[in-house]
Amino acid sequence: MINNHNRLTIHEAHRLLKAKQLSSVELTKACLERIRRVEPKVHALVTITDELALRQAQKADELIAAGDTNPLTGIPVLIKDNICTKGIPTTCSSKMLENFVPPYDATVVERLNNCGAVVLGKANMDEFAMGSSTENSALFTTHNPWDLSRVPGGSSGGSATAVAAGEIIYALGSDTGGSIRQPAGFCSVTGLKPTYSRVSRYGLVAFASSLDQIGPLTQDVTDCALVLNAIADYDSRDSTSVPYPTPDYTQCLSTNLKGLRIGVPKEYFVEGMQTEVETAIRTAINKLEELGARAEWEVSLPHTPYALAVYYIIAPSEASANLARYDGVKYGFSYLDADSMWEAMEKTRQYGFGAEVKRRIMLGTYALSAGYYDAYYLKAQKVRTLIRQEFDQAFDKFDALVTPTSPTVPFKIGEKIDDPLQMYLSDVCTLPINIAGLPAISIPAGFADGLPIGMQIIGKPFAEETILKIAYAYEQATEWHKRKPKI
Ligand code: GLN
Repeated sequence: MINNHNRLTIHEAHRLLKAKQLSSVELTKACLERIRRVEPKVHALVTITDELALRQAQKADELIAAGDTNPLTGIPVLIKDNICTKGIPTTCSSKMLENFVPPYDATVVERLNNCGAVVLGKANMDEFAMGSSTENSALFTTHNPWDLSRVPGGSSGGSATAVAAGEIIYALGSDTGGSIRQPAGFCSVTGLKPTYSRVSRYGLVAFASSLDQIGPLTQDVTDCALVLNAIADYDSRDSTSVPYPTPDYTQCLSTNLKGLRIGVPKEYFVEGMQTEVETAIRTAINKLEELGARAEWEVSLPHTPYALAVYYIIAPSEASANLARYDGVKYGFSYLDADSMWEAMEKTRQYGFGAEVKRRIMLGTYALSAGYYDAYYLKAQKVRTLIRQEFDQAFDKFDALVTPTSPTVPFKIGEKIDDPLQMYLSDVCTLPINIAGLPAISIPAGFADGLPIGMQIIGKPFAEETILKIAYAYEQATEWHKRKPKI
């Protein structure tokens, strides 16, 4: 039986589940059937937990029959493979963690489980979330559902692909420098990076702890708000989590942007940017004006060009410290055929890590070493403060900033893999946001030759409601999010 239940959004599925016109088991089976058909083409999933999912679905149906009305009950979700899931392998798409089965759930997973979610599996990613194309996965490369010869973006490429291809209703990703927003843009789905510390990082395998945030990848903005409702809150197990109250993020969704001030920072329309991308985003901003927003087109954030350099000092530095734990002793891959402890450690890391991870560890170790620390790491931290202050000043004048999510549409698999700098440049528009700890969302905003273009909306700290509102108004006035890839 072919149905399109796998294409339902969370809020549509919830309505049908509540009205008993659909069961969670049926919905889960529709996703599994879709996975069976398209997964051989897109390769988005690292682990499929079909038995667990069907058990959870059955339980969810019982809950719904007993009157449970949580909007996530019975809805299948896919988790990026760097988020710990109790009893389910969590590989970070690395040989190092190939056989790692966490003994506990990340807070976000616990929260989804408490909502009656159905966990369908784990999504492919760039190894330890380092990359922009999913080509750095040690397992396999994920293919963009809009054009299988192209990358889906990264590092949450598996999550974005699965949502776009209709394999799953929604997914979780993580974003250190753009890893939710860039693949969301490349696959034409909605992806939100919350304010740093809004969502608990407990159980997220650390890459760069001062930048990492978990967030939703969904088919529309309403779903994004629903998932954020479920995952955002204070968590005493994450020392950077803040005890701010969590609003109901669906309450802010409205189609009237009257009175909102939007800044368009010119530094984000970088040289070398694809003209179709620039045109699409400028057209989208015109649309926001039609909806009542007031746009100022010539805003300047002059420190923006330094963000890439700052990021590639700070992120590798933190990574080099975080990844020191993979020594073959505590957990993960262990090289056993060695004569000494040092040889065992060295070989464990030599075989366990891929090229990009090693590159980052070397860069970070260098930047943190005595004699270079002040020149690189400390300086990068100072520029980080300047970038943050510049955003603060801009937000005195504007409620949100609007930019492209990426300078280009999805590129070809293999095109940038041998040129790390080119690869790093694909995140120029998203990296500064993590450096400043701000919330930002990417939503579908057009196509060039059938390839997706994403628009990024950036907010003040903890102003997720503002960016969701703008995103929602734009979405309701356009049809981009309704287009689905034909595979
Ligand atoms: N592409 C960037 C990097 O390689 C960002 C990755 C991320 O956000 N996890 O570091």
